[in-house]
Amino acid sequence: MKSITKQKPFDEIKEQLDRFDRVYITGCGTCATMTRTGGREEVMDMKGRLEELGKLVTGSTVIPTACDEMTEVAISEDKGAIQNANCILVMACVLGVHRVSLYIDKPVIPALDTLFIGVEDSPGDFREVCAQCGQCVLGETAGICPLTACHKGLLNGPCGGTNNGKCEVDREKDCAWTLIYQRLEAQGRLDLMRKYHAPRNSNVTLSPRMIKITSQA
Ligand code: SF4
Ligand code: SF4
Repeated sequence: MKSITKQKPFDEIKEQLDRFDRVYITGCGTCATMTRTGGREEVMDMKGRLEELGKLVTGSTVIPTACDEMTEVAISEDKGAIQNANCILVMACVLGVHRVSLYIDKPVIPALDTLFIGVEDSPGDFREVCAQCGQCVLGETAGICPLTACHKGLLNGPCGGTNNGKCEVDREKDCAWTLIYQRLEAQGRLDLMRKYHAPRNSNVTLSPRMIKITSQA
């Protein structure tokens, strides 16, 4: 499972950095490296582009996993270069940006947009698997998420556009509900196709989402 990101357009990064002339860059050695948006190569490329703009890049690092607590240690190892910068450009997903901003009292600028949580089907080919809706129905849809796998996010069976098992929105793609049907049939649970799923309860996904886990006796 990975946090899938894309690099922001360079003009947007440039605009966000407009008021800063000394920049420290951090990448991430996990998801952003796999998606080629914030690994060593991309950090070096960004450094070159910022220098061409006349910025001083005071230093850079690729934190092993930018979203975890070891980020504090990784950052402390380059304290001098960070002190010398007037902002930090973070080439990691939003969790990495959030984590870095916990430990650095300087403006933190994201260089990436976080798109979704997904899996890598083949090298470089990422697919969203969960929209974190908070009301999972996978147990009744044979493990295929209708919110992410169906282009219309339909919860109660296919739309009228299914054609020979392909989706009407993207004919290259299998219809999610055809796949759900086939898997339920193979599992002898086809009756679940008739189960009605009520509209999503939006109270479950009030923002910001929070949860308190308490230990159970
Ligand atoms: S139904 Fe889909 S979006 Fe909702 S929690 Fe399950 S996998 Fe995630
Ligand atoms: S054809 Fe299938 S996957 Fe495509 S929008 Fe309709 S139900 Fe969803």
